[in-house]
Amino acid sequence: MRSIQLGDKTFELSITSTEIQKAIYRMADEMDRDLKDKNPLMICILNGSFMFAADVMKKFTTPCQVSFVKLASYQGTQTTGQVKELIGLTEDIVGRTVVLLEDIVDTGVTIDNLVKQLNGMGPREVKVATLLFKPDACKRDVTLDYVGLSIPNEFIVGYGLDYNGYGRNLPDIYSLVK
Ligand code: 5GP
Ligand code: MG
Repeated sequence: MRSIQLGDKTFELSITSTEIQKAIYRMADEMDRDLKDKNPLMICILNGSFMFAADVMKKFTTPCQVSFVKLASYQGTQTTGQVKELIGLTEDIVGRTVVLLEDIVDTGVTIDNLVKQLNGMGPREVKVATLLFKPDACKRDVTLDYVGLSIPNEFIVGYGLDYNGYGRNLPDIYSLVK
């Protein structure tokens, strides 16, 4: 299946599940090498990262805890979706190595804000593992410790990523046909 339709948009196959899994094995190896003996807290950023987090955690052999957070748009009087509030973090991260598991870093705004929020909670360190990275779209100077694949600045779906809530269950990644 090389081309799919989601609502009003057509997408074509861009990254196969085999390529995704290969990138994930490499990331898990790098993370095992760096994080052993660090008792890391792995944090999956919902919703988009659920598939990546599940697959990378199955290859990661270091003893760790796994938790899940969501980013909610803060409904302030002036701000409209600019500030993203972190919800769902119940663990105390003081003195801990925290690893964020993110599906994709696009402009970098989301991950930059999240790293800053977490750094304010007294961890030993905050690391970022992102399956996908769009270097041409990134506007923030964020350190990405583990990157699966760098991709062009195109809108993609599949493997957790959605268009209007659809497409998350696709095992491959597809890019928008313009
Ligand atoms: P950023 O703050 O880096 O611009 O964007 C991060 C979030 O935007 C990602 O976690 C993801 O939810 C969403 N996003 C960025 N690029 C894409 C894309 O190509 N496709 C989809 N479906 N979501 C994207
Ligand atoms: Mg995300």
